[in-house]
Amino acid sequence: MSSLTGGSYPPTLDNELEGDRLVQVIKDWSIAHGLAVRPPPAVAGDDPRGILAINAPVTLFPSPFPKSCFEEAKSIQKAYNELYANISQDEEFLSEIVQEVAGGDEFIASLWEVHTRVKKEGYVQNLALGLFRSDYMVHQDGDKLQIKQVEFNTIASSFGGLSAQTSLLHRHLAQTEYPLLQSPSAHSGLDLPTNESTKGLAAGLAAAFNAYGKSELGHPTCVVFLVQGGERNVFDQRHLEYELQSTATPTPTPTPTPTPVFRLPFADILTRTTVAPTPKRQLLYHLQSDTTKVFEVAVVYLRAGYGPGDYPTPSAWEARYQVERSAAITCPSVLTQLSGMKKVQQVLATPETAENGGGPPPALRRFVENDDAKTAGLLRTFTNIFPLDDSPAGLAARKLATDPEKCKRYVMKPQREGGGNNFYRTAIPAHLATLPEAHWGSFILMELITPPPLENVILRNGQLEKGGVICELGVYGTCLWDQTTGEVLRNEESGYLLRTKGDQSEEGGWRRVMGVWIRSVWC
Ligand code: ADP
Ligand code: MG
Ligand code: MG
Repeated sequence: MSSLTGGSYPPTLDNELEGDRLVQVIKDWSIAHGLAVRPPPAVAGDDPRGILAINAPVTLFPSPFPKSCFEEAKSIQKAYNELYANISQDEEFLSEIVQEVAGGDEFIASLWEVHTRVKKEGYVQNLALGLFRSDYMVHQDGDKLQIKQVEFNTIASSFGGLSAQTSLLHRHLAQTEYPLLQSPSAHSGLDLPTNESTKGLAAGLAAAFNAYGKSELGHPTCVVFLVQGGERNVFDQRHLEYELQSTATPTPTPTPTPTPVFRLPFADILTRTTVAPTPKRQLLYHLQSDTTKVFEVAVVYLRAGYGPGDYPTPSAWEARYQVERSAAITCPSVLTQLSGMKKVQQVLATPETAENGGGPPPALRRFVENDDAKTAGLLRTFTNIFPLDDSPAGLAARKLATDPEKCKRYVMKPQREGGGNNFYRTAIPAHLATLPEAHWGSFILMELITPPPLENVILRNGQLEKGGVICELGVYGTCLWDQTTGEVLRNEESGYLLRTKGDQSEEGGWRRVMGVWIRSVWC
């Protein structure tokens, strides 16, 4: 770990008092503006009344990110939204991919089963909403810097609420605090782009809410945020909720009423919601404190349900089925969730073999028809991703994955979300050795992206950590489309997230602190 020395960015803190002052300002500004998370038990001790909040980890200074790369990531987002809206409407394509991984992946198999059950009785909602986030790192190839996509998230794309606040924090510091530092580089040349992630994501939810229309049953309509019990990242979600409440109104009335938004733990779906009979199958939300109060759910926004941990019992799968078969607009639907499989990303990036004449990957051509510029723009952001199945490409990749030297250039990923699931470098052959070869195909093998080295100071749990960091940019996108006609009703780029992670741990953003996984840094 190198120290932060003068001259270069970020600026040196010339004495302890400068650092103390900056830290105090960040601590107070963060709590005053909801840049906060609930504390892990290891930090807070017992908090039986659930009243404590602590600062979300942030960097003391904004991490620089190449402007051209930033602009490119933002400008390609609408093409990505459209691509994934198209994929989620192609059941045949998804079915083939699910079949390839389901043998070694019960979770994906169970999700698919929810879809097929609903399909049998018929879907009653045509509209689907995606709040997406496409993640990138900058790849340095000689002098050339190019964004390369890490992954595309189609479910529970988080941190939009805190990211907007972090951008405001750094803007505040740039205006009031950095100029007071002695280092000359402290406040020069900071170009801090505005960040509309909270507004953009809330506008996506509002678009779906408004598109749902009025309740035929005469109930007020509402939005439900499906959340995990004991969620620590609650303020990130609350920012979206408050923004949504202040923008969307059920009908234009002389005195607009805020949109009702309810947070519903995933484990409580079956006790707090019911579905009206076919053919309409409206999803009804029953207020716990007064069960005579019933709301019709227009939109279900999932911030849970993306991993096996949320489905400990068969009834949890019944709960997901209940939501999926209802008339509520789901964000995401099961098919949209499955479109975010890493295997889909691999298939999109796998080129035609030389015998077929080369050219763009056939899967990409399937979804981006007759638009060479768009295809080329998307292709530029792909890095090499290989299957690990028994196809010729898969067999070649298996050789790389099991080679003790060559494996060091790769990360192996299962079809999972939420961090902490990947295998890096030499852990790849070690993990494959524990699995029957028939199940290797449920993983993909991806080249590691190596961003240029940077330094920054991270404030986490009240302590400063200095050293090498890497940046991961996420661009949010919101898309509302009709699954039966393919019509796109909304397609917007919706703000960004720049995560700054310590360069020592493989996933950086996830660090084990006294037994609790905490999310790392935003800037
Ligand atoms: P998840 O859906 O669990 O977030 P990701 O694919 O985003 O899975 O992987 C988690 C983290 O692993 C990323 O945030 C990044 O830090 C690291 N990572 C993933 N793929 C790569 C890659 N190809 N090169 C470098 N780092 C990667
Ligand atoms: Mg993900
Ligand atoms: Mg990720």
